[in-house]
Amino acid sequence: MAETPLAEVRDHLARAAKIARRKPDDIALVAISKTKPAEDIEDLLQQGHRLFGENRVQEAQAKWPDLKSRYLDVELHLVGQLQSNKADDAVALFDAIHSLDRPSLVKALAKAFEKAGRTVPCFVQVNIGEEEQKGGCAIADLPNLLAEARNAGIPVAGLMCVPPADVEPSPYFALLAKLAADNGLTGLSMGMSSDYEAAVKLGATHVRVGSALFGARG
Ligand SMILES: *Cc1c(COP(=O)(O)O)cnc(C)c1O
Repeated sequence: MAETPLAEVRDHLARAAKIARRKPDDIALVAISKTKPAEDIEDLLQQGHRLFGENRVQEAQAKWPDLKSRYLDVELHLVGQLQSNKADDAVALFDAIHSLDRPSLVKALAKAFEKAGRTVPCFVQVNIGEEEQKGGCAIADLPNLLAEARNAGIPVAGLMCVPPADVEPSPYFALLAKLAADNGLTGLSMGMSSDYEAAVKLGATHVRVGSALFGARG
């Protein structure tokens, strides 16, 4: 019988972890279901997967309340840019945020946490390739942003990056790992369908895998 994409990705993850002398259980597989219909998500849920990621608040609001009501142990992460005016909605729906990237969002999230009476772990997104158009805070601004987040009581879980497209990603993963270590952080959200094995070898604790699980996006 042919392996499912989920089993295949899990195999590859386990192999990469073994080479790096890490435990596969220490690496969270965040299944990125953006643009995919609820039926596709349900397929993975029925195979027992429970950790998912979306990149837009509105799309997640349309798809997830129903799924969450039927699969109570689902964990949902936000991996895309978050507008400050959607902070309340994000805190209501998501269990982690991978895209904290600016002081104004620190303030908005701190307020949203207070209002909701709960916090969720946040990863600070770093513009690791120092690209003009890319989301994430500048490397030089990271210490200040981390200090602001900690002062505001935001639980900072680690760092997140999306390396530049079409170049070898490993040097960027290594740099993110170094920045995390320098700042006393252990969480590393890095690696996508094309490079999650390399990311695991360089210390990823959360890989964000979409197309390798769900097929190409239209
Ligand atoms: C879409 C997306 C992913 C998943 O990308 P794939 O190449 O489909 O695995 C991971 N991280 C972020 C931030 C994304 O927007």
